[in-house]
Amino acid sequence: GPAVTTWSWHEGSFMSTAEARVPLTTQALQYGTGVFEGIRAYVLPGGRELAVFRLDDHYRRFLRSCRLLRIDLPYDADDLARATVELLRRNATAADTYIRPLGYKLSMLAGTRPGVGLAGVSDAVSVSTFLMGHYAPPGGLRCAVSSWRRPADGVLPVRAKVCGGYVNSALALDEARAAGLDDAILCNERGQVAEATTANVFAVSGNRLVTPAATADILEGITRDTVRELAGDIGLACEVRDVQRSELLVADEVFLTGTGLGIAPVVELAGRPIGDGTPGPVTRLLSERYTALVRGELDDDRGWLTRVPLN
Ligand code: PMP
Repeated sequence: GPAVTTWSWHEGSFMSTAEARVPLTTQALQYGTGVFEGIRAYVLPGGRELAVFRLDDHYRRFLRSCRLLRIDLPYDADDLARATVELLRRNATAADTYIRPLGYKLSMLAGTRPGVGLAGVSDAVSVSTFLMGHYAPPGGLRCAVSSWRRPADGVLPVRAKVCGGYVNSALALDEARAAGLDDAILCNERGQVAEATTANVFAVSGNRLVTPAATADILEGITRDTVRELAGDIGLACEVRDVQRSELLVADEVFLTGTGLGIAPVVELAGRPIGDGTPGPVTRLLSERYTALVRGELDDDRGWLTRVPLN
């Protein structure tokens, strides 16, 4: 697996990753009542600086996830961003880095009534980092349409990155891998396309993009939002609406978007080639622009990069 870095930020201080522990009784460990983020830092040309992509947007989403689970932290988005920059500076590794903030329910406060509640349980936060680049296979992804469904908002809200919600992703990814595939696209309980296990989905038909709406039981990805902006920059229209699974099967191109994967072409879905079974031109164009953007090779006129000098 990816290498963890020397330092982590745990319960308000920097400490060695090996020493950053949680008690066995941690409520989030037992019930999945934590929330997390996935953020990336990229090495800039020259190798002496990292750029964190959309750091503030990730922490705003993190704090919304916290709010859903009544995780009340003594930090705002700026505090968390500052701690993250300091952590990257301390680890000082000139390699693409994956950043994992985790907010979690820790232990019942004195006088709290027993039960799987959220109020009356203490909260904690940590940030750890891994050395890991984009991990999509270079020739494109072979995906299943999962037999698992994305849960509805009234069952387990997936608009928040809740730890326990990722059991659904784990089951779907495990099923896909057991069948020799790379990932899976899940439909929601209404049978519409939702998202992949840890990425959003786009289809391309001609010069038009389409992606499921926020109401399709998806996490509203920051990469998804970035792709919509980049598409606008190069004059591609993007529809955001209900998407049927058959639309994916007949699309010219399908691609996934996520902080971990980046922009990754799907070349096979449910045993069929997408288009001619190779990465298509629109996916390639968007992917090249995305890579240039996160690596500081395009104008950062939206202020999406936080630069971290390494020494
Ligand atoms: N959906 C799910 C379920 C995810 O876990 C992720 C990864 N955070 C995404 C979509 C993509 O979101 P983002 O582009 O913000 O990484």
